[in-house]
Amino acid sequence: MALVKYKLKKNDPVIVKVGKDKGKKSKILKVDKKNAKLFLEDVNVVKRHTKPNPMDPDGGIHEKEMPIDISNAMYYCKKCDSGVRLGVKVLGSGQKQRFCKSCGEIVDKD
Ligand SMILES: [Zn+2]
Repeated sequence: MALVKYKLKKNDPVIVKVGKDKGKKSKILKVDKKNAKLFLEDVNVVKRHTKPNPMDPDGGIHEKEMPIDISNAMYYCKKCDSGVRLGVKVLGSGQKQRFCKSCGEIVDKD
């Protein structure tokens, strides 16, 4: 069984803890477990100027989300209104349920 090192999942609400987007609330687009990176919606967006080329005949400015370190974001708990650490409970069925370590709120509703 794979080691559950990172408790964050795609579509989780997060808050950015460091950098130019510090304090920004976002959503996980993708978790890159191999490199311990997160792709977050509207966070760490870089603009790239592209010259017209066969793939992109018009060229222009493209915006792209660059990944940030997984440790630079925390799960955003609505009840706590802040970034929190998550705990994991293993239920009788073997199913895992994540909860907010600050207020105890279960974050996996489904
Ligand atoms: Zn909480």
